[in-house]
Amino acid sequence: MTAVAMDFGIDEALRALGIKDINDGTSTGSDFFSTGELIESRSPVDGALIASVRSTTKEDYNKVMEKATDAFKSWRKKPAPQRGEIVRQFGDKLRELKEPLGKLVSYEMGKSYQEGLGEVQEMIDICDFAVGLSRQLHGLTMHSERPGHRMYEQYHPLGVVGIISAFNFPVAVWAWNTALAWICGDVCVWKPSEKAPLCGIACQNIAASVFRKNMLPEGISNLINGDFTVGEFLSTDNRIPLLSATGSIRMGKIVAQTVASRLGKSLLELGGNNAIIVSPDADIKMTVIGAVFGAVGTAGQRCTSTRRLIIHSSIYNEVKDALVSAYKQLRIGNPLDENNHVGPLIDKDAVNMYENALTEVVKQGGKLLVEGGVLTGEGYESGCYVKPAIAEADNSYAIVQNETFAPILYLLKYSEDLEEAIAIQNGVVQGLSSAIMTNNLREAEAFLSCAGSDCGIANVNIGTSGAEIGGAFGGEKETGGGRESGSDAWKIYMRRQTNTINYTTSLPLAQGIKFDL
Ligand code: NAD
Repeated sequence: MTAVAMDFGIDEALRALGIKDINDGTSTGSDFFSTGELIESRSPVDGALIASVRSTTKEDYNKVMEKATDAFKSWRKKPAPQRGEIVRQFGDKLRELKEPLGKLVSYEMGKSYQEGLGEVQEMIDICDFAVGLSRQLHGLTMHSERPGHRMYEQYHPLGVVGIISAFNFPVAVWAWNTALAWICGDVCVWKPSEKAPLCGIACQNIAASVFRKNMLPEGISNLINGDFTVGEFLSTDNRIPLLSATGSIRMGKIVAQTVASRLGKSLLELGGNNAIIVSPDADIKMTVIGAVFGAVGTAGQRCTSTRRLIIHSSIYNEVKDALVSAYKQLRIGNPLDENNHVGPLIDKDAVNMYENALTEVVKQGGKLLVEGGVLTGEGYESGCYVKPAIAEADNSYAIVQNETFAPILYLLKYSEDLEEAIAIQNGVVQGLSSAIMTNNLREAEAFLSCAGSDCGIANVNIGTSGAEIGGAFGGEKETGGGRESGSDAWKIYMRRQTNTINYTTSLPLAQGIKFDL
C-alpha cells in the first residue's frame, strides 16, 4: 500500500467492502469461482497495484448463467413491491457504505473523492426511484371493438439482463440498470470495465449481502470479470434477451450487430461530442463556470463532458480570454486532495490519445490557446496526469468530429444567427448532450424545438455534464438511442403483452370476420 493510499484509508475501505484479501486473485467476492487469467487493478492516482482479480472463463460463465436463469424463475414471481423492498434495503446498505465505496471509486478510477461520493449518491437515488416505481409498473387498458370483451396491456419481466459498463462510471451505470431491472423482475449479469474490476466486486458483495439476508438466491445479481472477450459471452448468448452496453461507439457498433444478429434487444449508451452554444445574450460568468467544469471535471472523462464551445463572434474574444485566465487557476494533482480540480486520466493509453489529439488539431489547422502537456515529477508518478488544453478549431476537422476522452476543449466561432450555431452543434455523428447559454427566451425555445438540438439531452443555462436520475438519460445518432434511469426507461427491462378477455357466451371475431360452423 502506498503512502497516498494509506493516508486516504484505502485499506479500511477495501476491508469494509469485503474485498481485503484478493491479492492472490482467487476470490471474486461472489459465490462463484473465477478461474481465468489475472487482471491487475492499478490506481491512476499513484500507479500502485491495488489487487489482482481472476477473469471469468467460458466455463465459469456458464455456471453463472445457470445460477442466474434459475434465480429468475423465483424472482419473477415475487410481487413487484416486494422486489422494491429488497431494492430499498440495497439502497440503505449503500448509504451505510457510501464512504468506503466512494473512496474505492475515486482511487481505482481516479475521479475526485467528491465525485466518487456523488456516484454512490446516484446509486442511492436510483434505488429510491426504483422503490417508488415498483408500485407503478402500469400498462394501459383500452376499449375492445367486440361487445363483452376487455382488452389491456401488461408488462412482464424479461429474464436475464446483461450489463456491460465503462470505466468512467464504474458503479453508477450498473446501479441505473440493475435497480430498475430488479424491480421489473429481471436478474442481472454484469461485466464491469476491466479497468475497474474492484468496483464491480464491491458492488456485487453489497448486493449479495442483501439477497442473502433475505434468504433470496444470490443469482439475482451476478458478476463476471474480464475484457471484451468476456463481454462477448453476453452479446452472443441467446439466453440474454436484453444487453445494456455503455462505452465507446466502436464497442457499441460491434455489440449492436452481434445482439441484433440473434434478434436480441440492446440498450446502448455510447460516446458523446457535447457542445455549448454561447449566444450574444449569454451570461459570461455562468458560461465560463459551466464550460470549465464541463471540460475539465473528471479530467474530461465523462460521456457528457463539454468538448466544443460554439461562441458568437461578437463575444468570442471576451469568452476566450476569460477561459484562458480560468485555466491558469486550475490545480492538477491527486484527486483525493480536495484542493485539486483535475485528477489523472485512467491509463497511459488515454494519455497517448490525448497527446495525439493535441498534435492532430494543430496539424489540421487549429491553434492551441492553452497548450496542455503531460505532467511528470513528484505526485505525478503514475504518468497519467495531463494539463487541460484549449484549442481554436473548426467543426470540420476530423479530430473535432471524434470524441477524445480527455480534457481538451475546442473553441468554434459562429457569426450569423442561432440557426448557424445549431447546425454546427448538430454537425457531428454523436448526439448525447448539448446546451445553450442565453438569456433570450426566443433563442432558448428555438434551441429546444424540433428544429433545434438533435441530442438526447438539451439544457438551457446549464452545462452539458451531470444529469439527474429522474429524467431518461441517453443520446441519439451514434450515441446509440438508449434511455436509462428515470422517466419511463423501465419499459425496456420488461416485455409487453396485450391481453383480450371475452366474458360472453359467443365468440365474435375481430374486424367483423364471420366464421360460422
Ligand atoms: P470501451 O468501449 O473501451 O469499453 C466499455 C466496455 O465495453 C468495457 O467493459 C469493455 O470490456 C466492453 N467491450 C469492449 N469491446 C467489446 C466487445 N466487442 N464486446 C463486448 N464488450 C466489449 O469504453 P471505455 O473506455 O470503458 O469508456 C469510455 C467510453 O464510454 C466513452 O466513449 C464514453 O463516452 C462512453 N460512455 C458513455 C456513457 C453514456 O451514458 N452514453 C456513459 C459512460 C461512458
